[in-house]
Amino acid sequence: MRASISLGRIAGIKVGINASVFLIVAILVVGLATGQLPAAYPGRSIVAYVIAAIIAALLFLGSLLAHELAHSLVARRNGVEVESIVLWLLGGVAQLRGEAKTPGADFRIAIVGPLTSLALAVVFGLAAGGVAMLGSAGLPFGVLVYLAATNAVLAVFNLIPAAPLDGGRVLRAALWQFRGDRHAAAVNAARAGRILGFVMIALGVLQVVTGRGLSGVWLALIGWFVVSAATAEEQQARLGGRIAGLQVGHVMAARPTVLDGNLSVADFIAQVALTHQYSTYPLVDPYGRLTGLVTLNRVRAVPPELRATTRLQEIACPPNEVPTARPEEPLVELLERMHGCADGRAVVVDEAGRVVGVLSASDVARALQLADLRSFDPYPAPSGADLTSR
Ligand SMILES: [Zn+2]
Repeated sequence: MRASISLGRIAGIKVGINASVFLIVAILVVGLATGQLPAAYPGRSIVAYVIAAIIAALLFLGSLLAHELAHSLVARRNGVEVESIVLWLLGGVAQLRGEAKTPGADFRIAIVGPLTSLALAVVFGLAAGGVAMLGSAGLPFGVLVYLAATNAVLAVFNLIPAAPLDGGRVLRAALWQFRGDRHAAAVNAARAGRILGFVMIALGVLQVVTGRGLSGVWLALIGWFVVSAATAEEQQARLGGRIAGLQVGHVMAARPTVLDGNLSVADFIAQVALTHQYSTYPLVDPYGRLTGLVTLNRVRAVPPELRATTRLQEIACPPNEVPTARPEEPLVELLERMHGCADGRAVVVDEAGRVVGVLSASDVARALQLADLRSFDPYPAPSGADLTSR
């Protein structure tokens, strides 16, 4: 899930929203302002309903953010780096770099999210009680009750033991703990996720058929997402099992041909491309540190008349967008990051940041073929998703 709009950093963690959040906010605001609130508290002006609904929707997003922050902070404390938090149409995602190293850490990272939502439900519930005791059981009370209820639903729904929900992570951690096989545990949690997703789709379709239109479509949509996320997780877990134990350094092409970014495209073609067998060339500074990545695909995109005047640096994938890894890093962790502008390549650097290797999809494919010829200890790897059920 990509963030379309950055909200800056909280506790050092990048927070962003996907544009699809505006759709869920609109759905929540319209539903509350024209349905639930007027039904429960009749006789107010439409402006009052809309303001109350907007406050409720924003506080709900804030609650979701708190849930994801809890996952992220506990992940960090357990040695798992956090890429970013993104809020989107169906909820929130704390995108982690890599995986928990022990079942205990896996469990703690997962469980803290629902616990946070549960705590928020209690806080909003108590606040609603306080407002009621002060004698004003109007719209503020309604908003607080709504927030208590949605947070409680968020906690309970996400505890269903099926990947990619938090409950699926808890199930994975438990199976991993008791059977000692992380890979098989992840596969089982993902299978439970597929079953859950199909059940949700079926229930959603049933609701549509029986005339409860929108909520059925919504349920089916979430079910479809759960099925596809669970399927991807199962594949990744199986893949992780196949290449477990392999390090980046085992698979990379060592000592790649590195270039100066000031070389023109024309000179590159004449002096390098036609005489080397590689398709990927890291650009480096005088110290050997990465300044960009050029692939033949990128070179081919330069029109012939511009080749003499275009420098490699100008067409390179910038260094902050090239996936990089150290040779001793598990291959499975790098695979999770192998996207972006580098045409499916990654660059391997040493502790001083100097380029020591490159890794391409074909290197990985070869490693997989070799892995099938041997046996490895299992060890998989996906990232979570929190879903709102309304
Ligand atoms: Zn969660």
